[in-house]
Amino acid sequence: MNAVASSHRSSRRKSVLFCAECSFESALNEGWLVVSDGDERTVVCPECGHVADHRPERSAPASQCAD
Ligand SMILES: [Zn+2]
Repeated sequence: MNAVASSHRSSRRKSVLFCAECSFESALNEGWLVVSDGDERTVVCPECGHVADHRPERSAPASQCAD
C-alpha cells in the first residue's frame, strides 16, 4: 500500500473571497470594501464594484426602533 495523502496543501485557510467579475481575490477583512448598512453587510469589490457578498449582520443587538 502506498497511499499518498495529498490533502496537505495549505493549512492556513483564511476566508478568501473571489470576485466573479474581475477575479479579484483577497481576504474578506483585508482587501474588500465592507459596507455595514444597518443590519446588513455588503462586501464590494474594490476593483470593479461588484457586490460579492450581502448578508445580514450577525451580531445584531436588540432592534432599535426608537423614534
Ligand atoms: Zn471585481
